[in-house]
Amino acid sequence: MRKPIIAGNWKMNKNVTESLELVKDLRFKLADVSDVEVVVCPPFTALYSVYQFLKGSNIKVGAQNCYFEKKGAFTGEVSPSMLKEAGCTYVILGHSERRQIFKESDELINRKIRAVLSEEMLPILCCGETLEEREKNVTNEVIKRQLTGGLKGFTEDEMLKMVIAYEPVWAIGTGKTASKEQAQEVHKFIRDLISKLYSQKTADAVRIQYGGSVKPDNVSILMNEPDIDGALVGGAALEADSFVKLVKFEKK
Ligand code: PEP
Repeated sequence: MRKPIIAGNWKMNKNVTESLELVKDLRFKLADVSDVEVVVCPPFTALYSVYQFLKGSNIKVGAQNCYFEKKGAFTGEVSPSMLKEAGCTYVILGHSERRQIFKESDELINRKIRAVLSEEMLPILCCGETLEEREKNVTNEVIKRQLTGGLKGFTEDEMLKMVIAYEPVWAIGTGKTASKEQAQEVHKFIRDLISKLYSQKTADAVRIQYGGSVKPDNVSILMNEPDIDGALVGGAALEADSFVKLVKFEKK
């Protein structure tokens, strides 16, 4: 049985004060949740304060990115050990905004995954096609390239520590959600790919989140698909009420 995982990617939103206001609400309103794993991913500057506030609660903290080196002359970068010390359990890697705006390659993402695992944190590896790629019917090829590149060299045990997030780029922040059929089809493709790269047992255990305009009114429809195990949420994670509704989605 895969435990659903709902993660909020706050992106470059919320200063320390605003972050604490939000998690104060979440901690209280989500205190009764035990059947869903809940993760919040604030900006770097708020990680430590948010972690301190959430310590002992059922909400975990994740970062949105990191660099792969341990320390040194990498101006502006943050290392996995710094994130670990700040209280992170998860690190989102390969988000489409990182791939598109900051030109991150699968090879770079692969190195970051290695670095995150070596600090005993858990990567959330994002993949997803652009609208142009979907219209050209190359979605599966794109996903396969991103995942085989990102996962290169990892053992089965390492694979089991990861979460995959399928996020069609055309659905991120646009209000256009993939239909449940479109999302399920790609999630199934991803699970079959993991089974080919590792084993069916591992593929059955790995959680695959959907991301792209997930809102309280579409979360249950998506979550009730057999291969959708969670959601990576941007916009709707910025308000306590909508994030709480997402976490408390209606189960079949
Ligand atoms: C995201 O940034 O990962 C995301 C899915 O954003 P949104 O929910 O706003 O589409």
